[in-house]
Amino acid sequence: MNIRDLARPEILSLQPYSSARSESAMAEVMLNANEAPWPPAGVPKAMQGRALNRYPDPQPADLLARLAELYSVDESRILVGRGSDEAIDLLVRCFCRPGVDAVAIMPPTFGMYAVCASVQGAARIEIPLDRNFHVDVDLLLKKLPGSVKLVFLCSPNNPTGTLTSHAVIERIAGSLVDRALVIVDEAYIEFAESPSVSVLLGRYENLGILRTLSKAWGLAGARVGCLLADVEVISLLRRIMPPYPLPTPSINAALGALHADGLATTRQRIGLIISERERMAAALVRLPSVIEVLPSKANFLCVRFVDAAQVQRSLQRSGIIVRDVGRHARLAGFLRISIGSREENSQLLEALVRLEVSG
Ligand code: PMP
Repeated sequence: MNIRDLARPEILSLQPYSSARSESAMAEVMLNANEAPWPPAGVPKAMQGRALNRYPDPQPADLLARLAELYSVDESRILVGRGSDEAIDLLVRCFCRPGVDAVAIMPPTFGMYAVCASVQGAARIEIPLDRNFHVDVDLLLKKLPGSVKLVFLCSPNNPTGTLTSHAVIERIAGSLVDRALVIVDEAYIEFAESPSVSVLLGRYENLGILRTLSKAWGLAGARVGCLLADVEVISLLRRIMPPYPLPTPSINAALGALHADGLATTRQRIGLIISERERMAAALVRLPSVIEVLPSKANFLCVRFVDAAQVQRSLQRSGIIVRDVGRHARLAGFLRISIGSREENSQLLEALVRLEVSG
């Protein structure tokens, strides 16, 4: 079986939109895309970068080349778009027939897999993480109905911070060859001190990996993320992707961050976040208001408090916001705390100590 056979038949038979930019290279006189002949008035030159009056390259060659180097995969296996959120949406729309197919998720986990499935009218099969918040492989392989086309596995998992081993991912991908795509969301992998599963890409054509520049690379506002997958999957998604997914200023920002200077500083910052995560975990677990801190391989900690609502309210009064993740089953009483700068983290600890003192 070919991986294409898993896609919705409508997508296979679709005549994709052919954009002006994809049909011809740049030329001296560009009269093929109904663009303005001048750069936009009133936008400072420094902000314009490449010609802002021109549509961007749908998959910018220089950005693809940098990402291929960064992730050690061939350019043909990369689809770059508006954050990894866009890739999640495209995957569900490409592979799940409304009312027929399903996605599998492993709660508690990132919410967008379920939201995209609902928007598409795809059923959601939930295979809860085990009591230590690890993937329950036996349960997953036993319970997975034939209707499941996509399995979303988040590693490190948001909001618990748990990392899934390559052996587990290999077992799942190997068992589901010809049946479903296994999508490993590695939004936080830079903080895990562990290699990406992209090293397995050549071995399993049903494996896909989500990467993003929003977290470790500090570019959440630029919205750049990608899917690493088999070339067939990439070409299927390109059939339904909007013609110009990446805005020119975002392309420029990503290229800047991935340049040698940006790279060195980012690597140093990742190290800082990891050491702050360990400092914070050790300090938090000593506080009487804290019941437990889940071991985390991401840039956040999932912390169970004696009274999470009160902690959240009083932190807010100190001008500090954290995320209540108590709406997830089995995370009642937990708050998710992002690791900030050393000063911000200390501010949070001081506010929690003040709360203890004032009772
Ligand atoms: N995956 C996970 C696990 C996330 O936590 C997030 C953002 N919170 C995303 C994907 C989406 O990231 P982006 O669209 O910014 O790349």
